[in-house]
Amino acid sequence: MIIDTHSHLNFKAFDKEREKIIQKCLDTNLVIINVGSNYKTSQKAVQIARKGIYASIGLHPIHINKEIFDVKKYKKLAQSKYVIAVGETGFDFLKNQDIEKQKKVFFQHLELAKELNLPLIVHCRKAHQELLKVLPKAKGVIHCFTGSLSQAKEYLKKGLFIGFNGIIFKLDLDKIIKETPLERILVETDCPYLGDKEKNDPFFVKKVIQKIAETKKLDFSLVEKQLFDNAKELFKIF
Ligand SMILES: [Zn+2]
Repeated sequence: MIIDTHSHLNFKAFDKEREKIIQKCLDTNLVIINVGSNYKTSQKAVQIARKGIYASIGLHPIHINKEIFDVKKYKKLAQSKYVIAVGETGFDFLKNQDIEKQKKVFFQHLELAKELNLPLIVHCRKAHQELLKVLPKAKGVIHCFTGSLSQAKEYLKKGLFIGFNGIIFKLDLDKIIKETPLERILVETDCPYLGDKEKNDPFFVKKVIQKIAETKKLDFSLVEKQLFDNAKELFKIF
């Protein structure tokens, strides 16, 4: 079994081929977590969810000026048993450094995750220092990790997993991959983004696993199994 812990088949980019890709994932034992980035895409992730195709619900920091995080509405979505995480949420300072507002919405997600007893999928771009300052010990993952080795270690200390995707082919994260225990790594694609072609898909996760196996000088099938077990444990995949 293989898992892509951060996919966006719920996005518009997949409208025409979504069902075909989902069917191929189910046929090849590729488990997927489709991550919502606002209410609409969270709702879509829940709509397309089934056994093997799970959903996470949340409001991405780049969307917090366009919509509010309506906890009641998200709680209703979480009634689906296929919702296995809260997020993506976190800090994104690429275009907007409004820390106070991002903090407020992030803490709302933290509270919701606690209440629902679900892990968090955390997005963090150009803001690891600020995030580490306010992040309590938590169950979850720092997805698409691009921070430093010392920051990775701090997240590990706080109980989080480190998520790697195709960005490891663009940035040199080898040292961080080597020093992060395999038991604390999750793999993902963030498709349709961050692949080796214009439009990425969940199958690209195999290349990410391969690169991690090579970097750690470990056998592919051992790495594949451990990475699946990690996700199974964190998200209680059933
Ligand atoms: Zn994402």
